[in-house]
Amino acid sequence: VDLPIHEAVLSRAAEFGSTPALIDGTDGTTLTYEQLDRFHRRVAAGLAEAGVRKGDVLALHSPNTIAFPTAFYAATRAGASVTTVHPLATPEEFAKQLRDCAARWIVTVSPLLDSARRAAELAGGVREIFVCDSASGHRSLIDMLACTAPEPVVDIDPAEDVAALPYSSGTTGIPKGVMLTHRQIATNLAQLQPAITAGPGDRVLAVLPFFHIYGLTALMNAPLRHGATVVVLPRFDLEQFLAAIQNHRITALYVAPPIVLALAKHPLVAEYDLSSLKYVISAAAPLDAHLAAACARRLGLPPVGQAYGMTELSPGTHVVPLDLMEEAPPGTVGKLIAGTEMRIVSLDDPGKDLGPGESGEILIRGPQVMKGYLGRPDATAAMIDEDGWLHTGDVGHVDDDGWLFVVDRVKDLIKYKGFQVAPAELEALLLTHPGVADAAVIGVYNEDGNEVPHAFVVRHPSAPELTETEVMLHVAERVAPYKRVRHVTFIAGVPRAASGKILRRELRAAHKEPS
Ligand code: ATP
Ligand code: MG
Repeated sequence: VDLPIHEAVLSRAAEFGSTPALIDGTDGTTLTYEQLDRFHRRVAAGLAEAGVRKGDVLALHSPNTIAFPTAFYAATRAGASVTTVHPLATPEEFAKQLRDCAARWIVTVSPLLDSARRAAELAGGVREIFVCDSASGHRSLIDMLACTAPEPVVDIDPAEDVAALPYSSGTTGIPKGVMLTHRQIATNLAQLQPAITAGPGDRVLAVLPFFHIYGLTALMNAPLRHGATVVVLPRFDLEQFLAAIQNHRITALYVAPPIVLALAKHPLVAEYDLSSLKYVISAAAPLDAHLAAACARRLGLPPVGQAYGMTELSPGTHVVPLDLMEEAPPGTVGKLIAGTEMRIVSLDDPGKDLGPGESGEILIRGPQVMKGYLGRPDATAAMIDEDGWLHTGDVGHVDDDGWLFVVDRVKDLIKYKGFQVAPAELEALLLTHPGVADAAVIGVYNEDGNEVPHAFVVRHPSAPELTETEVMLHVAERVAPYKRVRHVTFIAGVPRAASGKILRRELRAAHKEPS
């Protein structure tokens, strides 16, 4: 697809006209497609007038708001590459990202202005900070709506020019800037379209962050491309989330496993009318089949479908097509999308391709593979081999019909006496215990030098007496002896990234320095 991303997404905006494009889930403020189209063009003019030029990096630092897409598409229309920033990043973290990508511009929101100012000071090189909402001494996007300068005409090469520069989640190491061209993102949208088409009349709830590639794709680019309405929430709060589904008659949810967990287990769910929902899709982290089934049963919906991808893949490669949700085997992350190749290779002998049923590392080749990590040729070369295969670092296998199952990350596998144990499998098993509200597993070394599973468990309010022995027995009765959980620590909550991933490095650190 050879269009700049703003063209690829907004080409039909004029046609959708007065259909609401975005609704603020907290106060009901609405932006129509006609406004989104007009506003992002005006803001592009305003940004160009302020000095934004092709190739500049603009940092978009905001929670989900209805202005986020306007800021994003205005920036790309002005020729900038947008690096999205976690709204809760500390000024130091933010400054690191600004420095790493030599950002010249920041767009933020007034509640985060102090943090943005501090980050800009620390980083140096930022020419101006704009705010999305009210002015506060800075130029605001609202002022720019009145800009009379002509719309900037920027010669964008979709195949080469970087549209988005998201940072990977940093789950396994330091976050890296991922260069995604206009063509990579637009092509991936087209590849995913047959599987996840939401059209006019559909309402999706944007609770996962737009700044992460999953939210950017599934909650912003894809629904806006198809004329659906996006109801926006700034953060995940279960009551607010359930109320928004009920009040806005939400039809589709794109979520991560912790939300599936809440939908399956939390007592509050029963108090809301969620009957408008047609389907739920989960991605970003392993989702257990039992949990998915429990969630779907409780909501009276078809099985929860999954999608699989990563920042470096723009982001999607697999999805359960909507029309196959009933027949897809439980636990699958989906089928390979069109125009993409996959191999599964042995973990012990990386040259060896594996067949159905055999687990190994997932390799991907296709038009959605990133251009590279910004300023890190070595990391890029370590990720993408000479033949163009991207090594995902994930372990999985396919069945005879080509459905993919993701087991876990290679780095997270626990090696016990030559056997491999996937933390995700044990976490799923722990969650089947009614007394367990949430769980995470890491490998720790025993006195005898063996790596063994250590479970961190959040007790369900109904089971304040749950003991370590009960937890260990629950697992031991259901797995081969080498997979048994050997230690249990009760904790108040499982640390997770904004995208819903378990932050195992935090658990490892906590384990090393017990409080
Ligand atoms: P970093 O690369 O910085 O350590 P990260 O890998 O968590 O962070 P993302 O690009 O956000 O950053 O996440 C991609 C990863 O998410 C995949 O490699 C995979 O491990 C996981 N993932 C995505 N979808 C699924 C899914 N459906 N099931 C299991 N895991 C998934
Ligand atoms: Mg990664």
